[in-house]
Amino acid sequence: MDHATGRYHRQMLLPEVGELGQDRLARGRVLIVGCGALGCAQADMLARAGVGHIRIVDRDVVEPTNLQRQTLYAEADLGKAKALAAAERLRAVNSGITIEPIAADVTSENARELARDAGVIVDGTDNFETRFLLNDVSVMLGVPYVYGGVIASRGMAATFVPGGGPHATPCLRCVLPEPPPAGSVPTCDTAGVLGPAVMIVAAQQATDALKVLLGRHDLLSGTLLEFDLFGNTRRRLRLADLVGDRSACRCCGQGRFDFLDGGLAAAAQALCGRNAVQVTPPPGARVELGALRERLSAHGPCALVGPLLKADVDGGAKRYGLTIFPDGRAIISGTDDPAEARSVYARLIGV
Ligand SMILES: [Zn+2]
Repeated sequence: MDHATGRYHRQMLLPEVGELGQDRLARGRVLIVGCGALGCAQADMLARAGVGHIRIVDRDVVEPTNLQRQTLYAEADLGKAKALAAAERLRAVNSGITIEPIAADVTSENARELARDAGVIVDGTDNFETRFLLNDVSVMLGVPYVYGGVIASRGMAATFVPGGGPHATPCLRCVLPEPPPAGSVPTCDTAGVLGPAVMIVAAQQATDALKVLLGRHDLLSGTLLEFDLFGNTRRRLRLADLVGDRSACRCCGQGRFDFLDGGLAAAAQALCGRNAVQVTPPPGARVELGALRERLSAHGPCALVGPLLKADVDGGAKRYGLTIFPDGRAIISGTDDPAEARSVYARLIGV
């Protein structure tokens, strides 16, 4: 093991790691969901740290606008599936670990299977629908969930530890009972994103994932980190202080897994012979079409036509036609792939 000892020497000098900790990392298994900016940075750090098995799931392909901050990709990767391009790079970084890329949409059908043997679930997603699904899986399987999100120069991160142990925390759904309504939150595609903000969130997440894999839950902060790099603000809120009665939580309090059951997920259905997909958000969603029009106008022509918003937008690799209804339903033309349509919906409309 001279090679391994040498390779990880600087990290093994830390008393929290040591030889035993490094062994634990080598046996560790992590699920990274989403390999955009956050996922790239997390995967790179965890691969270099020697985490033995890294499963990466992503539904998108590499586009020119990704290269500003998605550090595993180079120009030669444009058009490739992100999961596969990321795996190629990570194997070149560390050939001593296993990288398992999966180019797929994470849905209520496959989420549990993807997380079945993971010691920790790391969030690299860009939408709340998937986050709530991951939270369900985390609570159901008892696997910690490392949440993170970045928009513009702002970032958030928190690690949710399910179960009743001494270091358990409330879950994501305790803090945020329902996903925000479709179209109500800005996305990286509409509000932009500052590369360094991504790195801070990803570094916090990778650190927490290492703490979990090292079996050092005692080192987790139990807080939600929030910061704004351009605004020069930073604070930590104790998760326990954000939540009143945990027994009121539908997920960890009452054991209902609404998102895994599929009832609250956005549905996508290809419209036969039309090169279009209809995406239906969760029940009760409403979209403020006027505000959405303002945000989408940076991507191409948009117009309110009667009760509908119609837009012809640049989706990175190609253009899409969007027809959005006041209830948040959207018909996305330019693809007949439901996963691609859900991705466009998540990035441009939100949730
Ligand atoms: Zn909860």
